[in-house]
This record gives sequence, C-alpha cells and structure tokens, in this order.
Amino acid sequence: MVAALGAGAIRELAARVGIVPTKKLGQNFVIDPNTVRYIVEQSRVNPDSHVVEIGPGLGSLTLRLLEVVSHVTAVEIDGRLSDQLPVTVRENCPEFLGKLTVINRDALEIHAGEINPAPSDLIANLPYNVAVPVLLHFLAEIPELTGVLVMVQKEVADRLCAGPGSRVYGIPSVKIQWFGKAEAAGNIGKNVFWPAPNVDSGLVRVHVTHPYLHLENQRGWIFQVVDAAFAHRRKTLRAGMADFVGTANAAERALINAGIDPGARAETLGLDAFVRLAASISEQRN
Ligand code: SAM
Repeated sequence: MVAALGAGAIRELAARVGIVPTKKLGQNFVIDPNTVRYIVEQSRVNPDSHVVEIGPGLGSLTLRLLEVVSHVTAVEIDGRLSDQLPVTVRENCPEFLGKLTVINRDALEIHAGEINPAPSDLIANLPYNVAVPVLLHFLAEIPELTGVLVMVQKEVADRLCAGPGSRVYGIPSVKIQWFGKAEAAGNIGKNVFWPAPNVDSGLVRVHVTHPYLHLENQRGWIFQVVDAAFAHRRKTLRAGMADFVGTANAAERALINAGIDPGARAETLGLDAFVRLAASISEQRN
C-alpha cells in the first residue's frame, strides 16, 4: 500500500512548491488519510475505472486513486501543483506514474473529447467557489461518466440532494435532475483539511441516467427558464416570471398551458415541470 500523505507531508510539499493556499482557488487540502480512504471507498471505483479528478492539489486523493483504478486524468488550474503532481507520484509510487495524465487547465474549459478515452468516473474534492458549475459542466460535456462522487460545501451538498418543497431546494437541485439523481454520501468535518475551511463539507454521489438526453439541444433554454423562475423565489411564478415571459398575463397563460398553477412558487416544481414550461413559453413566442 502507498503511504498516504498526512498533515506533515502536505505542508512540506506546499512549502517546496511555494504554495500558500488561496481561498480564490478553493485550496483546502485533505490531510487525513482516513478521509481519503473513505472518499475512495464511497466512490465505488474499480480496477477498470478511468477517473477524472478535478483539482488534485497536492495529490492526497490522487495517490490513493492510482492504487485502485486503471487511469487518473487530473485537471488542475494551478501550474505549480500540476507540475508537482507527477514528481510526487514518482517519489511515492513510481510504479503508477504511467497511469497518470495531468492537464494544467481551468476545469470549466475542458470539452468533450479532450480526455481520451472518455473517463468513466468523476471523483473530486471540488474547489468550493466553482463546485456546481464544474460538476454540471462535466456531466454535460462527458456523457460517458457513470460514476460521480464529489466533495462540496455541506450547504451545496444539501442543495444538490434536495427535492421539491424543501427549504434548500434551488437551481442546483433542479439542474442536477437533468443528469440523474444526487444522493448524500456522508458528512466531512473541517479539521481534515489544511487550512481548515469555515464550513463543513458533504459528499454527493450522482446516479447518472441522463433522463433528458433526448432534449439535449434544448438544455440551454430550459436552464434559462429555471434561472428566471428562481430569480424571484419568494414570488408566485405568475409574478416572478412576468418580465421573462413579457407580462404577468402571458406568464399565467404559459404556466396554465404547461399544467402548472400560476400561484405556485419555483421551489415546488421538479425539472419535468420546467421542461413543460420552457416548451409552453417557446410555443407562445412562435
Ligand atoms: N484534491 C485535493 C485534496 O483533496 O487535497 C485538493 C482539493 S482543493 C479543495 C481544490 C483544488 O482545485 C485546488 O488544488 C485548486 O488549485 C484547484 N482548482 C481551483 N479552481 C480550479 C479550476 N477552475 N479548475 C481546475 N482546478 C481548480
């Protein structure tokens, strides 16, 4: 078994490459080997898995993944970290170096086909400031992904997993339904990180089924309708969607046409209802 990177090793590596962790890049590194083991266990990866890891940082999760899976493609925005990662692998487990590909890029700029062959799994301790956009971007760009396990802020984990009617149900809760179903996979405390963040974290597993793949060319439009509906989450949809649709009366007609009560609020609707609403607004515009 490869020795895990603990608190001392992580700090020493950071000093070696001149990293002072920044909030801007969500740089909170996992320093607890038990947490790393837990994440990999929960990810259910196997020796056939090709994992894309976003934000490998100093490599704590990467080293453990390399032990278990067939290949890891790591996408890291910080050039000092992406340069160091193969060096860390060579120093700790040179036998796995051939299983690692490192891409020094913003994960939001990675497009379909750039990671070849397509990865089967996305496993990451996501940078918190861009966690939801990065997750949705990868699900959209790489439909081959079947296993997804990510660590995000607890509040974001709760949002991703919430169902209609819940107090925390919002835009991420609706958009994730485009790709499948999100499920909570454990809570993680602050002290397993260096530096410790201000908030707790949560693991989220996405059961990817692509239930709306047949409507893929309309995803952008449907997501615009979702954004507009939640822009005024305390208003009724009739009032909240008035500007977006044109007038309150036009919004009411579109809602009724879609089988939605105009007096309802966005937080009570599942993605199916937004799909119908988007179609109804388009129909009205044509
Ligand atoms: N995986 C490591 C761990 O668990 O210790 C580090 C996780 S840390 C929360 C997030 C990592 O994502 C940092 O290494 C940061 O530099 C990187 N990062 C931030 N924004 C990014 C982006 N847009 N694309 C790719 N990597 C990014």
